[in-house]
Amino acid sequence: MANDLLHLTEEQREIQSLARDFARQEIAPFIAEWDENAHFEPTLVKKMGDLGFLGMLIPEEYDGLGVDTATYLVALEEIATVDASAAVMMSVHNSLPTEMILRFGSDEQKNRFLRPMARGELLGAFALSEPEAGSDAASLVTQAKLDGDCWVLNGTKSWVTSGNHAGVILTMARTDTRENRAGARGIGTFIVTPDLPGFSVGKKEDKLGLRSSPTVQLTFDNMRVPVANLLGEPAMGFIYAMQSLENGRLGIAAQSIGIARAALEAATAYAGERNQFGSPIRDFQAIQFKLADMATRIAASRTLLHAAAHAKDRGENVKQASSMAKLFASETAMFATNQAVQIFGGYGYVKDYPVERLFRDAKVTEIYEGTSEIQRIVIAQELYASD
Ligand SMILES: Cc1cc2nc3c(=O)[nH]c(=O)nc-3n(C[C@H](O)[C@H](O)[C@H](O)COP(=O)(O)OP(=O)(O)OC[C@H]3O[C@@H](n4cnc5c(N)ncnc54)[C@H](O)[C@@H]3O)c2cc1C
Repeated sequence: MANDLLHLTEEQREIQSLARDFARQEIAPFIAEWDENAHFEPTLVKKMGDLGFLGMLIPEEYDGLGVDTATYLVALEEIATVDASAAVMMSVHNSLPTEMILRFGSDEQKNRFLRPMARGELLGAFALSEPEAGSDAASLVTQAKLDGDCWVLNGTKSWVTSGNHAGVILTMARTDTRENRAGARGIGTFIVTPDLPGFSVGKKEDKLGLRSSPTVQLTFDNMRVPVANLLGEPAMGFIYAMQSLENGRLGIAAQSIGIARAALEAATAYAGERNQFGSPIRDFQAIQFKLADMATRIAASRTLLHAAAHAKDRGENVKQASSMAKLFASETAMFATNQAVQIFGGYGYVKDYPVERLFRDAKVTEIYEGTSEIQRIVIAQELYASD
């Protein structure tokens, strides 16, 4: 269908099929149960690692697949079309912690962490948000004080995707607490591992959607992080996090497209099966128009996303393009799942069909890795950036 607009290469088609078959065989049969019980299936991590899905952007010298961003996003869309929860685990892992270590880590850090991350032996997480620091992430208060050969971290991180299963958590903390160093300046990024003394997992959130992706609080109580685990420069961590979120937003856009596509596929099939007034409801123009709008927005989202991905791989600045792709795709996910529930009528409102879960899963794409309001702020700021 509209996917053909992308003119996928042979290699991309192979990876797409691999991802589709994996998701249909290993995830689809269990989705309803995992969603109901908010169950995270830990064996998925190793299975996805074995297939290369957790090292897609990691070069082959570190055991990754080393594919380009567009190929990674094709695979991510396929996983998301079946399960948005598995997709966010894959997106966060590939787009944030592995990319951060790859871009800003030392050779020693790359050798120590990237290989097991690519193989699915260590799952990655990203801990920026705090109870009082969400959209205004630069107001974070978790502190890091240098003490001999360790940084001592104290504070609480919230909303950490995969935080209770992660082996590597890229964590932002304030390294410089002088008053004139408030805000984005004076924040470091630390490679935190759960074996560090003082690390603990707190509340697990009971969520509307993405229920088989765990979201937890993490608490650091005089947690001693070896200096070797500081990423790059001690005052640059917020910059690293913001630059990495540009990649993260591409991943969330792909996840959103997958959710929207699943809603379109389910609604298209149902509209052919459901009869009212003596004919399938797809014969009614009101239903056709909904399907047409869903398909058009999905195609537009995918085109925007892949244009941004190619620009990124050409080394261009994609700050605005990644926000545009994330904004448009996430609002498309919400639009398409809403339309799908409407096309299903009452049957869309119950768990017998997948669109109920898709509708719940879609909402968070407008919230995390920067809300839609924050994406619009970024896009507008970039309009004036060259002035
Ligand atoms: C399921 C889930 C998983 C998550 N995973 C992670 C993770 O792995 N790591 C991580 O660090 N964080 C994670 N987050 C946190 C997420 O990034 C934040 O929830 C998000 O950035 C918004 O912050 P907030 O929830 O504190 O909302 P707030 O910042 O309090 O915003 C509340 C409302 O005010 C609006 N608003 C705020 N500022 C402005 C402004 N200047 N102009 C206009 N409107 C504004 C917002 O858009 C929103 O509508 C996750 C969140 C969820 C729900």
